[in-house]
Amino acid sequence: MSKERIKGISVKKNQNFSKWFLELVQKAELADTRYKIKGMIVYMPWATITIRKMYEKYQNLLEKKGHLPITLPSLIPESNFKLESDHVEGFTPEVFWVTHGGKNKLEERLALRPTSETAFYQMYSLWIRSYKDLPFKRYQSCQVWRHEGKATFPFFRAREFHWIESHNVFASKKDAMSQINEDMETTYEMLQDNFCIPIIFFQRPHWDKFAGTEETFAADALTQSGKVIQLPSTHYLGKKFSKPFNVTFLDKNNKEQYGHITCYGPAISRIYGGMVAILGDDNGLVLPWDLSPLHVVIIPIYNAKTKNNVMKKAKEIEKTVKVSLKECKVKLDDRDEISPGEKFNEWELRGVPLRIEIGPKDIESKKVVAVNRIDRKKQAVKWTNIGKFVNDFSKNFTDQLKKKTLISFESKVKTAKTIIEIKKVIDDGMIACTGFCSLELSGKKCAESIKEKTGAEVRGKRVGKEKNKFKQCCVCGKPSKETVYIAKSY
Ligand SMILES: [Zn+2]
Repeated sequence: MSKERIKGISVKKNQNFSKWFLELVQKAELADTRYKIKGMIVYMPWATITIRKMYEKYQNLLEKKGHLPITLPSLIPESNFKLESDHVEGFTPEVFWVTHGGKNKLEERLALRPTSETAFYQMYSLWIRSYKDLPFKRYQSCQVWRHEGKATFPFFRAREFHWIESHNVFASKKDAMSQINEDMETTYEMLQDNFCIPIIFFQRPHWDKFAGTEETFAADALTQSGKVIQLPSTHYLGKKFSKPFNVTFLDKNNKEQYGHITCYGPAISRIYGGMVAILGDDNGLVLPWDLSPLHVVIIPIYNAKTKNNVMKKAKEIEKTVKVSLKECKVKLDDRDEISPGEKFNEWELRGVPLRIEIGPKDIESKKVVAVNRIDRKKQAVKWTNIGKFVNDFSKNFTDQLKKKTLISFESKVKTAKTIIEIKKVIDDGMIACTGFCSLELSGKKCAESIKEKTGAEVRGKRVGKEKNKFKQCCVCGKPSKETVYIAKSY
């Protein structure tokens, strides 16, 4: 057990977010960043256990909605990769290539998949025959590799990350767009309801789309600082890939048609990073009940004289908790080499939802002290009531966390008409809503000007009803075609 961990985090989250996050990752033992390839980290048990639970929840929900799991090879032949020109242009700078098998140079380079469109669709062209096969919905859970040029940051930006990618084929654009809506609902259900991360969806500007898509819809996580974190996105690919890959079906009139494709890519490792960043506090990690590797830690407080009595009761309580809540992971921390206070710090750092303390006074009063990780409030609980208490606590914990972290989008938004006004809104830690000339390529210059003068980006237009309307673009003064949102991002 490292002494470092026991000391806690040396900076406050709102004073220096990066330092706070990196210290948390190291001291709570979420990842080890010392692996000898830049941008590739080792996921430690505490993170791996939670990430597995996140995968399980996501996979269950996708399968409930008709997506079936498959597993494709990690390598993609260059010839597949080259078939769609925007895609190859967008991804080539980031591809890791496999060029040799042993000592021999391969006849064709193989891409270590940065994403798997060009693997899925080769197979889809073999599998899909008729309109009766549609919708065709498959996904895989896997790792992908991108030779990221920007500075890497654990979980958020890495050269290897863990994700789910679902690829779906439909007979019409209408069917495909309803899949896009379903993907957005899935994202709300997972991120907000299960992971306690507040999000909002934007349709991204043309210049900020995933390479090779017609339309991109991306979730931005909201933080108290006003900065957003890009999380899952779902894409309408139209026929851009179905044409070169020959993903076709025979319609009801026996006529051959190209499929309309959508893809959805929740990056679980990045969502985990977002969850750690948004839910964590100055004392460390905070996790939803279901995702915690450990739920309850019991800490006995004793001296040589009282040790036997306290330990005997602590063991009884451990058993009571285990019996009353089957799924509950509970640990009695009986280490002698560190003090109870150090144990409190350590388990707070690692985000265990409930701490139960028991000392000689509690033996006399037949009670324990229960401490909630979210607000660190203490309460006395009678021994006879512990089973029910832990049961209720487990049911309420995640809702309590959600109440604390959920930010209403409206409360973070302020309207602005000029760049000067936008800058003020951004500097105040808010998201700016403004008029904009175009989200097509012609608007790119205005977006660059905003970025240069305010440090913030055009995130796109809001998905759903927009009640704010503007007459002019905030930069060029041309008529405003779109109401857009501008925010800094992590
Ligand atoms: Zn403009």
